[in-house]
Amino acid sequence: MLQPTDFRALGHELVDWMADYLENIRQYPVKSQCQPGDTARQLPAAAPEQGEDFGALMRDFQDIILPGITHWQHPNFHAYFPANSSVPSLLAEMLTATLGAQCMSWETSPAAAELEERVMEWLRDAMGLPASWLGVIQDTASTATLVALLCARERLTSFASNERGLAANGQRLRVYCSTETHSSIEKDVTIAGIGRENLVKIPVDGQQRMRVDALAKAMAKDVAAGFCPMCVVVATGTTGTTAIDPLRGIAEVAQRYGAWVHVDAAYAGSALLLPDYRWMIDGIELADSFVFNPHKWLFTHFDCTAYFLRDRDTLLRTLSILPEYLKTQQDPYVNNYRDWGVPLGRRFRALKLWFVLRSYGLEGLRERLQAHIDLAIAADQWVEQHPTLERMATRTLNVVFFRDRPAAMDEAALDAHNEALLQRINATGKAYLTHTRVNGAFTLRMVIGQTYVTRDDVQQTQSVVEAAIATTLT
Ligand SMILES: *Cc1c(COP(=O)(O)O)cnc(C)c1O
Repeated sequence: MLQPTDFRALGHELVDWMADYLENIRQYPVKSQCQPGDTARQLPAAAPEQGEDFGALMRDFQDIILPGITHWQHPNFHAYFPANSSVPSLLAEMLTATLGAQCMSWETSPAAAELEERVMEWLRDAMGLPASWLGVIQDTASTATLVALLCARERLTSFASNERGLAANGQRLRVYCSTETHSSIEKDVTIAGIGRENLVKIPVDGQQRMRVDALAKAMAKDVAAGFCPMCVVVATGTTGTTAIDPLRGIAEVAQRYGAWVHVDAAYAGSALLLPDYRWMIDGIELADSFVFNPHKWLFTHFDCTAYFLRDRDTLLRTLSILPEYLKTQQDPYVNNYRDWGVPLGRRFRALKLWFVLRSYGLEGLRERLQAHIDLAIAADQWVEQHPTLERMATRTLNVVFFRDRPAAMDEAALDAHNEALLQRINATGKAYLTHTRVNGAFTLRMVIGQTYVTRDDVQQTQSVVEAAIATTLT
């Protein structure tokens, strides 16, 4: 059995493996080429009775597991949104794992709680969020948005639904978001007991942004019919096309009805470090809560979601539970973050964010974000100038949207052609893109957000796309 004294030698060996991996990451196929069952087939049906040596574990990690890994830190990973990392974040994760602390309360690791409070203040101020707001780290944006909905629900029902159930006041609650909003909103609405039927999806304009006039109309109609508007979720950077909903206009309408305004900037939030992008949250002082994921585009390992809120009392009244065995003497003086989210147990996540913020500095972070945006501007020009590529949505940040449009193909044929094109690109293992639909049309998305991506990497992806176009047409 391995003992703490075995760690040094094995750890050094492992760090060498990790360093080799990071240096050679371009040699791996970006997207795992495994078929369903390929990994499971190689795994025994039962756990071993006898312990095995570490060498055997590492061999199987390399032979069985690695082929089934999609390499998210590969510079040619352009799919979904990134879950990027960085050297300081990785080093901090090693320390976090070494400490193995469970940071549910202040007392269970005072430094974890106080560091979290401080780095959230740093982020809040660096991003131009209201100075009076507070922040807390959550595991994911999905959970943070659930927290926002629960707070909105309790505020609207004067905390009666927590006590007596959602039917307590006999109110019929409604939540609003655009048709382009992330699927987590719908999931959260169902979990919060509001019911999918009460999630009203507001139509978008030509640039995929929520239409304020349509929201005002829908809310007025609902109120006339006896519904209670509970919350409006604003998408600051939709998942499909990074469209930015008009926050101020939406918040002004929501205010008329006392509805909670929650801003989902899960991806685009990082760009607020750049003063040029502050317009995205014009009107934030009218909102109640805001979420973004440093674990997407801020060089911090998954999981790390930053949730900011205006009113701590509503949050604590909604979520705190204090059984005898969790009471501590410091409770009146400190933040017990177990009361600020859904799970009781919490990882020490502030450390990696602290390492990232200090190692890069705000200037270093801005430089990297801007570099990604500049690469996307160049890629967008490549789309524009290419003889058969068609731009499908306006670039806001570091994502470009396109399809191939050879002459004389109708929409159905174009969809099929571009779907085949995407498969062909991803099968090369040299780049990984995913798709969305823009006004119904199959559209390739190319996100340029891996921490260390270079111009050469992006040009390599462009060559892969061009080669795939040539072979898909034959
Ligand atoms: C990624 C994303 C989410 C979900 O993020 P998780 O942290 O994985 O839950 C929610 N909203 C938007 C706009 C996103 O881009």
